[in-house]
Amino acid sequence: MPARPPAAEAAGERLARSLQYFKGVGPKRYELLERLLLRRVEDLLHFWPVDHKDRASLTPLARLRPGQEANVRAQVVDVQAKILYRAGKHRVEALLHDESGDGFAVWWSPYVLEKLDPGTWCFFSGKVVANKQGGVELSHPEFEILGKEDLGADLLTGAPAGEAARPAPPSTSEHPDFGRIVPVYSLRPRQRRPDGTEPPEVKLSQSVLRKLIWQALACGAPDDLAEALPEGLRGKRGLPPLPEAVRQFHFPKSFESRDRARRRLAYEELFMLALGMGLRREQVARRQTARKLPMGPNVRKRIEARLPFELTEAQRAALEEIAADLAQARPMNRLLQGDVGCGKTAVAVSAMLLAVAHGAQAALLAPTEVLAEQHARTLADLLKGSRVNVSLLRGQRAKKEREVFLAHLASGDLHIAVGTHALLGEDVKFKNLALVVVDEQHKFGVRQRMALRAKGAAPHVLVMTATPIPRTLGLTLYSDLDVTTITGFPPGRGEVVTRWVKEKDRTKVYELLIAEARKGHAAYVVLPRIEGDGIESEGGTGEKLWSEVKGVEDERKRLARHLPSLRIEALHGRMKAEEKDAVLARLREGRLDVLVSTLVVEVGIDLPTATVMLIENAERFGLAGLHQLRGRVGRSGLKSWCFFFGEAKTKDARERLKAFAKIKDGFEIAEEDFRLRGPGQFFGTEQSGLPELAVADLARDREILLHARDDAAELLKRDPDLRKPEYAELRRRIRRDFAQRLGLVDMG
Ligand code: ADP
Ligand code: MG
Repeated sequence: MPARPPAAEAAGERLARSLQYFKGVGPKRYELLERLLLRRVEDLLHFWPVDHKDRASLTPLARLRPGQEANVRAQVVDVQAKILYRAGKHRVEALLHDESGDGFAVWWSPYVLEKLDPGTWCFFSGKVVANKQGGVELSHPEFEILGKEDLGADLLTGAPAGEAARPAPPSTSEHPDFGRIVPVYSLRPRQRRPDGTEPPEVKLSQSVLRKLIWQALACGAPDDLAEALPEGLRGKRGLPPLPEAVRQFHFPKSFESRDRARRRLAYEELFMLALGMGLRREQVARRQTARKLPMGPNVRKRIEARLPFELTEAQRAALEEIAADLAQARPMNRLLQGDVGCGKTAVAVSAMLLAVAHGAQAALLAPTEVLAEQHARTLADLLKGSRVNVSLLRGQRAKKEREVFLAHLASGDLHIAVGTHALLGEDVKFKNLALVVVDEQHKFGVRQRMALRAKGAAPHVLVMTATPIPRTLGLTLYSDLDVTTITGFPPGRGEVVTRWVKEKDRTKVYELLIAEARKGHAAYVVLPRIEGDGIESEGGTGEKLWSEVKGVEDERKRLARHLPSLRIEALHGRMKAEEKDAVLARLREGRLDVLVSTLVVEVGIDLPTATVMLIENAERFGLAGLHQLRGRVGRSGLKSWCFFFGEAKTKDARERLKAFAKIKDGFEIAEEDFRLRGPGQFFGTEQSGLPELAVADLARDREILLHARDDAAELLKRDPDLRKPEYAELRRRIRRDFAQRLGLVDMG
C-alpha cells in the first residue's frame, strides 16, 4: 500500500481534530458539546442549523423608529426591575448605550434580570415601540450576551473596560454573531433518554456554538470533506460543491445562497437514502429463493368458496397482483394499502390460503394483541370445517400452551400462525414459512421486515396498512416495496356522520346512545388515557365540570351512574389478557352497550353492530388515529355516527379537528396529517430503521426527493453494484450508513 501523501494526512487531521483543543473549550464545555455529539471538527461541520436570522444590518440606538424590527448592538448600562403588583407582572428595563447614544429595552419577565449585568455587551433583536415618555424602546427583544470574551484584545481598540473609558464595541465584520445572516442551532440532544422523554437543552449559548463552527470553517476543514455526489449529477441538478454548501449553510452570504446550500445537502441525504433502498430492493429481488405459489383455477375456486362474500372488483384486482408475485421465485415485497374497512384483510386471507393450498405455512402479524386475537377468530370462523389449522401465539400465554404452539409450528401441523411481534422471537421456528402478512405496518419498519426475512428461506412478504402513506414518505421509507392500492369499499357500508360536538350537546349525544342501544347496537367511548387528571366537580347547578384529560376508569364509572340503563364496560392496555378477552367476548355477543376504552380499539376491531363512536379529548389524538377510530363504526349497512368532543387550544389542534370533521377519505387524511405534523412525528425513525434526515424535510422537499429518486434509479440501472471507481465514495457511505440497517449484503 503506498504511503499517503502528507497533504492527505494533514487533511484527515483537520477533520479529526478534537474540540478539546479549541480556543474557549475547557473540560466543562467539552462535556456539554459531547452531549450534542460534538467531539471533532467534522462533527461541527455537520451540525446543521435549524434556522437562520437576518442580522446583516445594525441600527444605531439613536435611529430606532417605532414599528421597526431592529438589530442593535449595545452595552448594558443599568438594569432595573419593577413589580407591577396590580398587574401581577414584572417589568424589567435595561438602559443601553452604543456609539450613537442611549436607548431602552423592556421585558415583562424577571428572568432577564439574572442574565443582564451592567457592563456587558449584547446583541438585541426585536420590535421597536413607542413608550409613554415619548421615546422608543425595544420591546421584548431577543438578546445574546456577547460576553466578556468578546471584548478580547483582538476585538477591541485596546482601551480597558470601566466607567471612565467605555470600551469600543466589538468589530462587526468578522463576528459570527452579528452583522450577517446568523445560524441558529438546536441545543436539544438527539438521543432520547432511557424513559423515552426528550432530554433538556444543553446549556450552551448560540454564540458559543457559532464561534466554534466559525473556527471550524475558517481552518479550511470543509475542503477536506469527501465529495460523494458524482460531478455529473451535481452539474445536472445545479448543486454547489460540498465545501461551499457546508460554508454557506452555516454562514450564508445571502438567503438565496443558504437555500442553494440546503438544497444540495437535502438532495445528498435523499439520494443516499434512495440509493440504499434501491440496492435493498435489487438485492431482495435477485434472491431467487422464495417458494413459487401459483394460483391455478382449482385453488382459486376453493379459496373463493371459503369467503362468505364475493370479492369486489378492487379486491380481485389486488389479489391478482399479489398472486402474480407469489408465482415467482423472487420473494414478494408488497404493500397493500387502502382505507379502513376497504377489505384488505379478506385479500390477505386469500393469499394465505393460497400458501396453505401449496402445503406451506403463512404467518399473520398484528400490532396489538387485541387485533391478533380478532384476526385469529376471523380466520378460525372462515376455516371452520376445513383442514387448515390456525393458532394464536400470545406473549402472556402460559408456558405449556406456548410449547404446544411452537411444536406444532415446527412440525408443520400448524398452517397459519397469528400473533404480535412475539412471532418474531428467535425461538419461534417454522417448518416451511412461505408467506408473511403484516397488518397495520406503520408499526413495523424496515428493521422488522428484515427480522421476518430471517425466518424463512426468504418468505414472500405482504404488508397492509390502513394508514395510507403520504406519497413522499412512501417514496422513502417504503421505496423498497411494490404498492397495491384498494380503492372504494365493499357494498353495504353505512354512512358515518361525523360531528364536532360541544358540551351543551352532551345530553343529546347520550340520548342517541340510549336509542341505539335499544336497537341492539353498540357504542364506543374513547379517551386518551387510562387514568385521567380530570377534576369532576359538582357545582351548585348539579352540572359536572371537567377539566383537562379524561381517563377510562373514571369515565366508565361516571357513565355507569349517568346512564344506568346501559351495560357499560372498560377496556385498556393495563388489563390482563383474560379480562380483555372476556370484555371483547361480551361485546361481540351483544351483552354490552358501551365500551369505554383507550386507543386499543384504534386498529381493526370489527363489530358490525357498532354504530356510535364517541371520542373525548379529541384534541389529544392525531388525525390518522381519529380516522382509524371512525373506521370502527359503519362497518355494516347501519347508519353510524362519530361524535367528538375536543377543545382546540392551539391553532394546530383546531386545524386538525376541523380537518377530521370535514375529510372522509383516508388518503386525504394522511396527506393532511403529514402536512400538519411534519414527517418527524409521522413515523418514528427509530421504528423505521432508517437514519434520521438531518437536513431534508419530506413535507417540503418533495421535488428534491423526486429528483434524487430518479437519479438513484438511473445510476443503479447503469451500475447495479456501484462498482465504478467514480462511485467509490458513494459505496463507502452506503456501507457506513445503510448496509447494516437495510440488511444489504456484499457491500464490502
Ligand atoms: P380492512 O382490513 O381493509 O380494514 P376488512 O377486510 O376488515 O377491511 O373488511 C371490513 C369489513 O368488510 C369486514 O367486516 C369484512 O368482513 C367486510 N368485507 C370485506 N370484503 C367484503 C366484500 N367483498 N363484500 C362484503 N363485505 C366485505
Ligand atoms: Mg383491517
